[in-house]
Amino acid sequence: VNQLQKYFPIQSPFGRTKGYVKAVENIEFNLYQKKTLGIVGESGCGKSTTGRTMLRLTEPTNGTAMYKGKDIFKLKGKELKSIRREMQMVFQDPHSSLNPKKRIGAIIEEPMEIHRIGSKSERMDRAMDLLKKTGIREDQYFRFPHEFSGGQRQRIGIARALAVNPSIIVLDEPVSALDVSIQSQVINLLEEIQDEFNLAYLFISHDLSVVRHIADEIGVMYLGNMVEITTTDELFTNTLHPYTKALLSAIPIPDRSIKKERIIIKGDIPSPISPPSGCVFHTRCPYAIEECQSVKPELKEKNTGHQVACHLYH
Ligand code: SF4
Ligand code: MG
Repeated sequence: VNQLQKYFPIQSPFGRTKGYVKAVENIEFNLYQKKTLGIVGESGCGKSTTGRTMLRLTEPTNGTAMYKGKDIFKLKGKELKSIRREMQMVFQDPHSSLNPKKRIGAIIEEPMEIHRIGSKSERMDRAMDLLKKTGIREDQYFRFPHEFSGGQRQRIGIARALAVNPSIIVLDEPVSALDVSIQSQVINLLEEIQDEFNLAYLFISHDLSVVRHIADEIGVMYLGNMVEITTTDELFTNTLHPYTKALLSAIPIPDRSIKKERIIIKGDIPSPISPPSGCVFHTRCPYAIEECQSVKPELKEKNTGHQVACHLYH
């Protein structure tokens, strides 16, 4: 994904555009088979919009997303439909994302029907198989979503995403609605099926401690911008961006080898309608220098494979 930008127009009551919500500004990243890129940031930072835009659930304002030699953002009709099959999404709330009137077997079969995959009995076999793989007994096939716990419903959501044999899955806060004890079970399941199905994950979360367990690389977003991106180990041991340091300050880390600088950020996130000039973080950054107010720092490599957007390093 290159130079991804997404602005949502704000309409006046008379239908005129009065401004834009600058949800995503110039985001770049790579996804790899069997690897997980975590995207972390506070709510409203544009991470869900990034995932949804990549899947064309919402249209980008600008940018490219190359997949198998084609730009996903330019595809139409049949080509778009077939690429959609390869990219699935798992949502945060396993309660509202499963149709309460449908039996779970039918829920898992639905994407196969949409993409005309297999015969009816083949679809049923595959649904049964996926239930088993995701840890739900096959004899639960005729039950309804409300008969399952939150964790089980998320397993069903994962089975549904797998039904059409995708290559990429965008996981938008997939465990945030679950009890902590259940979270790690679902994370373990995601790791198992990633290996088995050769999946690339974009794992979106506000919780750095959750992402740490599953991500190979982590990108940190603030107000529509990627402010730091590197491997998970590097991010935790050699944290560079003041905002990432602040996020890390907020989570307990049992590992004593990781020395944390404690940074508490003040105030609220500014509005994405009129983001601050210069560095978008300057209004809350304890290290801000004069330049930060007027010059926007570029996301650039500081160490090998470690990119950061901050004047302190460039
Ligand atoms: Fe803080 Fe300036 Fe770095 Fe932005 S560029 S994070 S304001 S020091
Ligand atoms: Mg979100």
